[in-house]
Amino acid sequence: MTEPTQPVRQTAMPQGVGLNWCAYHEALSATTVQVWDGGGHVVRACFSCREAYDLTPASGPASAS
Ligand SMILES: [Zn+2]
Repeated sequence: MTEPTQPVRQTAMPQGVGLNWCAYHEALSATTVQVWDGGGHVVRACFSCREAYDLTPASGPASAS
């Protein structure tokens, strides 16, 4: 009896533990959120850069009024 082999599902791109690229200081950070870059684009910025550049978080639907 052979057991059916289940294909091991792996994520194509293994990510670090919550690390994302901060587009402002150009390094990985664990505190990044999506923000508006001022030119209508959404980029990721860490907490420090959000404070430094006074960035507006772009999380969720654009319903900020
Ligand atoms: Zn940063």
